[in-house]
Amino acid sequence: MAKLTVRDLDVRGKRVFARVDYNVPLEERDGKMVITDATRIVETLPTLKLLIEKGARIVLASHLGRPKGKPDPAMSLRPAGMKLHELLGKPVEFANDCIGDHAEKVVASLKDGDVALLENVRYYKEEEANDPRFAAKLARFADVYVNDAFGSAHRAHASTEGVARIVAGRGGQCAAGLLMERELKFLGEELEKPARPFVVILGGAKVSDKIKVIDRLLEKADTILIGGAMAYTFKLAHGEKTGKSLVEPGHARTALDAEAKARKLGVNFQLPVDVVVATAVDTGKRNKKGKPIFDFTNIRTVNGNIPDDAEGFSIGEETAARYAEIIGSAKTILWNGPLGMFEDARFAGGTNRIAKAVAAATRNNGAKSIIGGGDSVKAVNQAGLGDQVTFMSTGGGASLEFLEGAVLPGVAALTDK
Ligand code: ADP
Ligand code: MG
Repeated sequence: MAKLTVRDLDVRGKRVFARVDYNVPLEERDGKMVITDATRIVETLPTLKLLIEKGARIVLASHLGRPKGKPDPAMSLRPAGMKLHELLGKPVEFANDCIGDHAEKVVASLKDGDVALLENVRYYKEEEANDPRFAAKLARFADVYVNDAFGSAHRAHASTEGVARIVAGRGGQCAAGLLMERELKFLGEELEKPARPFVVILGGAKVSDKIKVIDRLLEKADTILIGGAMAYTFKLAHGEKTGKSLVEPGHARTALDAEAKARKLGVNFQLPVDVVVATAVDTGKRNKKGKPIFDFTNIRTVNGNIPDDAEGFSIGEETAARYAEIIGSAKTILWNGPLGMFEDARFAGGTNRIAKAVAAATRNNGAKSIIGGGDSVKAVNQAGLGDQVTFMSTGGGASLEFLEGAVLPGVAALTDK
């Protein structure tokens, strides 16, 4: 069901408690914490500007990092407040605690169109526990609730769910911010009645991560293109050799069931016809995390069986060409999961080729292209095509759960239209 959005609100003079995602990367420089990428703050500006224009008194709440339920200056939102001040070109009051006297004072001092930012809600363990008393303290600042943090909506925490329930219980409105609105539109509504052909590209590391998504999308898609390490479990299920590739023998059955379901529903279900493989050699060195560093030798493309000493790392060129052709006639494209280990340039070719095909279909065919999943978004950006697709989700794990058809607690708590 469609959710109320900030566009629908009449909030002049009201305190709007807005949950945003200011979980930005920070780095210490000369004893000060500096934001290294402010994208998440920039992305909230449209929602904030709209609320300011409407005369709301805005109280922003967010988490940052994992401070484990107690204050940690390295995870303070103060730098985010300063950055927001700079970006908005107007003062942002900072409350050095998300609840309590100082926060009360800061919020009480707000005039119409003013903005305050509360300190990290995860300084309290009650946030993740969705403790009702903690939520009630936060809800003291909320006449209206807005959620613009889709990436946190799959968690029922105090600031993502508890506060909304309390506001709704008082008869108050709970609305999606503009970012959240776009996520719900593209990952939700657009895929309910997709323009056809609807082509789904699924990759990533494991079948087990994607079972639910495959199962749900089989009921909606015209074509499913499989890639990534996930494809090797399908190969295994067909009795082919997979060498040292990442496979999940316990999920061979799942793979066969998915193919059977595709046949029954008349879905064109494609598996790779060639694979880029390499022989991994332990260098004896370890990375920062203490994990062994491998070098990859004898990189080549194989059809059919993967040799015993080799490991698959990407779809091959023939597969990429076939998939690109199918993508070329799509009207709706959903992509979740890279088609190879794209982080290594030697194995990024197949994924890049597909990214180009998706961008071309968007440009030439008027296709709506939707990218969901943290690594998939990284892969499209790495290919330099982030601005040439219709929509890239900011949701990471939340987008995957949403695509699985799960009801996200942070979304469910919003008011139906
Ligand atoms: P997303 O975050 O978009 O949902 P996943 O997390 O499911 O995507 O999968 C991304 C990971 O899968 C990447 O780290 C990538 O290196 C890995 N991957 C994809 N194909 C392969 C492969 N053939 N071998 C090893 N890893 C792979
Ligand atoms: Mg991932």
